[in-house]
Parts: sequence; C-alpha cells; structure tokens
Amino acid sequence: MTNILVTGGAGYIGSHACKALKAAGYTPVTYDNLVTGWQDAVKFGPFEKGDLNDRARLDEVFAKYQPAAVMHFAALSQVGEAMSEPGLYWANNTGGSLNLIEAAVAAGCLDFVFSSTCATYGEHDNVVLDENTPQLPLNAYGASKRAVEDILKDFGAAHGLRSVIFRYFNVAGADPEAEVGEFHRPETHLVPLVLDAIAGKRDALTIFGTDYDTPDGTCIRDYVHVCDLVDAHVLGLQWLENGNGSQVFNLGTGSGFSVREVMDKAEAVTGQKVPCNTGPRRAGDCTKLVSGSTRAVTDLGWEPRRSSLETMIADAWKWHKTGYYER
Ligand code: UDP
Repeated sequence: MTNILVTGGAGYIGSHACKALKAAGYTPVTYDNLVTGWQDAVKFGPFEKGDLNDRARLDEVFAKYQPAAVMHFAALSQVGEAMSEPGLYWANNTGGSLNLIEAAVAAGCLDFVFSSTCATYGEHDNVVLDENTPQLPLNAYGASKRAVEDILKDFGAAHGLRSVIFRYFNVAGADPEAEVGEFHRPETHLVPLVLDAIAGKRDALTIFGTDYDTPDGTCIRDYVHVCDLVDAHVLGLQWLENGNGSQVFNLGTGSGFSVREVMDKAEAVTGQKVPCNTGPRRAGDCTKLVSGSTRAVTDLGWEPRRSSLETMIADAWKWHKTGYYER
C-alpha cells in the first residue's frame, strides 16, 4: 500500500481526506499535534503525534513511513484569531509549512498537495474569482497561506517539488455515514453554529452584518461539501502521480449563498427555527467570495456531487445528531 502523509488528519477536512484516501487504496498516515484536532477522528490509518515545527519528529516520521506524497491540511484557520494574533498564523501556518516542505524535500518526497484558501484573494468587488485573480489577502490567515504558495513555487523551481494547491471556498457538510464530521472548539463556522442554535446548544446565532452590498444584506459564500472537497484531493494526488506539473485549483462550485439563505435552508432541512439576532460586521470578512473557475472540473475531472446546500446541511445535521458534540 502507498503511504500518504496527512498533516492535520485529526481535523475536520483531514479526517475526511483520510477516509477518501483509504477508499482509494492508499494508507493515510496522520501527523497532527492535536491542538485543534481529535485523536478519535483518526480512524483510517496510523497516527503519529507531532508538531509541524518539530523537524526531528518530522524526519523520523518520513523515515518510518516513506510516504509517496504529502497532503498538508494542518493549519490554524480562524480569521478573527488571525486578526488579533497574527504571529500564531505566521509561525504555525507559514513557518510550520516551511519546515514540513524542507523535511519532505530532504526525504525525497516530492509530491505535495496543499490546502490553501480563497482568503488569499481578498476583496474583489463583483468579480468571480479564478486562479489568476490577484491575491491581496485582507488578513494574516490568507497572507500566511499565500506565503506557503510562494514557498511551494520556489521549492518547485529549486528542488523539483511538484505541488497541487487547492484554494478552498467554504467547506461544509460531513461524511454521509457520519463516521467523521465537523467539530471545532471553539466553533466559528456558520453551518455548525446554525445547527447548534437549532439544537439549543447555544442561545442564538449572531448574523455578522446585515448592511453588506448583497440582495439581503448578509455576506455571500461559495459552500463546498467536505466529501467533494477531499475527492478533489485524491484526484490532485493522482494528477501528480500521472506526471503532471504543479498546478493551482479553486475548489468552489460557483454558487454563492448568503448567511440568511443558509439559515433558511437549515430551517427547511431540520423543520426547526434558527434562534438568531443581528450584530456588527466581523473584522476581516469580505462581502462575497464565489469561485469563477471550472479548472478542477475540466483538468482533474472533479465532479462535486454532494454540494447542494440541502445535502450539505442534511449531512451536517446527521453528524450533529450523533452526539459527538456532547463530549
Ligand atoms: N457568520 C455569521 N455568524 C456567525 C458565523 C459566521 O454571520 O456566527 C457569517 C460570516 O460573517 C461569513 C459567513 O457566515 O459571512 C461564513 O463564515 P464562516 O466563519 O463559516 O467562514 P469564512 O467565510 O469566514 O471562511
């Protein structure tokens, strides 16, 4: 079996990627420091606890498993925290990634799949974002990820590292079999917060800003089902295995939904009201982030199958009801 080193494999997206990799015949080896991940989400391959900034530990894990490729999910990802604690983001997301990339090159592991973000684009009014849109991040989260993209390009030129960079839009939903799902502490993402509010696990959802220049005044995002997102990663890995060169892909569906549309759909799926109130804008938020690219579809053969708003919320609700949240 081919080993793939999955950093952040104990986290939301990484755990789904491990399931998809195993289903595709790979052995996912999770490398995670468990700061934001959960060891009991590591169900599909071996687990190695370690930090991205611990080079000796990384070298040990590369030597033990001789992975054919790295899928690098491990990162801090809260925009609000990035605004108040930018140093954490530069040290962990950029410094940690540089350390990992150097360890991979030293081990001769030259295929690298990286989780980047549409937050690298920043605000571009009324423009759908494709991979050539200028990257002008508004916050340290986006900036820390863009820097890693630059590192990957430089290491490609200097050391022959081949990378597939995925710029995610908003990831939502859960494994339809509910073996893994979304569970952040603290939770900051819209869909789980809406479901928490419906389930009475928090008092009410606060809508961050109702004065945006959108039809209903709330922010618009392009939501992608986590299973579709990780399917693209397996295709990206195979793209590299097949000898293709480095490439950047947006992962969004091109459909944007406002905060209020997400709430309305959650009410329709669950049959329950979302308790909510309105608050000021959240620092660092853009009005609208929607992908205008079909490169992943045309070049990778990616087919997002579960990314309707209804299916994403239904799958997230099924996971929510497993009681994982009660821990
Ligand atoms: N949002 C909100 N209330 C919340 C959390 C999020 O109104 O309690 C909004 C947020 O302003 C953004 C959208 O929901 O417009 C998606 O936010 P999320 O944090 O899920 O993802 P982001 O777009 O920041 O990556």
